[in-house]
Amino acid sequence: MSSSGTGRDRAETRRLRGLPAYPLAGIPEVKARLHAEGRDVIDLGAGDCGLPVPDEAVAALREACARPDLQRYAFQRGLPELREAISDWMARRYGRRLDPDREILPLVGSKEGLGHLAFAALDRGDSVLIPDPGYAPYFGGPYMAEARLERCPLRPEEGFLVPPDRVRTCPGDLRLVYVNYPNNPTAAVATLDYVREMVRVTTDRGALLVYDNAYAEIAFDGFRPPSLLEVDGGLENGLEFHSFSKSFNMTGWRLGWACGGGAWIERLARVKSFFDTGPYLPIQAAGAAVLRDPEPFLDRNLARLAARRDAATAAFAQAGFEVSPPQATLYLWMAVPAGEGSVEYCRRLLESEAVVLLPGSALGEAGEGYVRAAFTVPVDRYAEAAERALRLA
Ligand code: PLP
Repeated sequence: MSSSGTGRDRAETRRLRGLPAYPLAGIPEVKARLHAEGRDVIDLGAGDCGLPVPDEAVAALREACARPDLQRYAFQRGLPELREAISDWMARRYGRRLDPDREILPLVGSKEGLGHLAFAALDRGDSVLIPDPGYAPYFGGPYMAEARLERCPLRPEEGFLVPPDRVRTCPGDLRLVYVNYPNNPTAAVATLDYVREMVRVTTDRGALLVYDNAYAEIAFDGFRPPSLLEVDGGLENGLEFHSFSKSFNMTGWRLGWACGGGAWIERLARVKSFFDTGPYLPIQAAGAAVLRDPEPFLDRNLARLAARRDAATAAFAQAGFEVSPPQATLYLWMAVPAGEGSVEYCRRLLESEAVVLLPGSALGEAGEGYVRAAFTVPVDRYAEAAERALRLA
């Protein structure tokens, strides 16, 4: 490609140019225009449900903000009381105690850890298996690290699971495998047997299994999403990622953690030491306070989300979409009516009916043909959103 006299932006690197454009980059402007026109916009786009955070988080943050000793750099390992609270909580939750000094690493939201991990685990040209559709950092980190991206299409007939055989047959020097259940965007869930099998096949390939468990606590009807901590050998060649964002509605606080085999925690911490200096210590103190006794909050919050899920499922089913209530996550994953492209459909729905859905293709080519609706609005709004979708068809 010629770079002289073509008018191309010379400040844009080859790396930057290779990043896919977000198909609905224009959404905030369209929304602002619709608001200005006095339209009633229903935004089911981002996975941010807007419900209150735990009172314990706010109280602990308030107190910690006033402590002079907590205003300094956190550095990588952060606040010991957060790592201890995480270790205690995971021991209660999964029956396995992690070493808070060696096996737990606080993150500035799990997204940054999922992305930065690529620099710890991949050399240029190494293979990485990523789900398609899938969460952006599974692509972004390995792409920036110049790895060889092997996409695994998630198919309805396979329960939207990454088939273990795909790990066995993945070409190249496979070093890293990202999986995410409960799954964004398909809302698929995995069994403990599936996790066991994935541990087995990734170990056989000598690859690191990244288990993104961001939705571990967003499950309904008694379903308990499994964890690598429940599998023998799961943490030797595995890292699990957790987040305060979805479990405790703390999306803006930017707090998560990675846990697993000590060597990988140390490698990720080393990479991170060149990018960030850890989450703000008072936010870590708030996280520790939340994890001391989270069950009452989780029960109350899940009841509200389950009511939204039921309202959303009923409303979109009524409007003719093929949906059943998901067992976990904040999402309905629905086929686009009449085979229309997902971006085109979402654009029309926004422009003419002021409803925001996420087009499946925004999360990977294999997401084409689907849209995602998040449980972001109160129960009484889904019927209106679905009626507008019906009107559009
Ligand atoms: N993993 C998945 C699959 C997600 O969908 C999200 C958020 O949308 C996260 C991780 C990250 O959360 P955070 O960076 O807010 O901890």
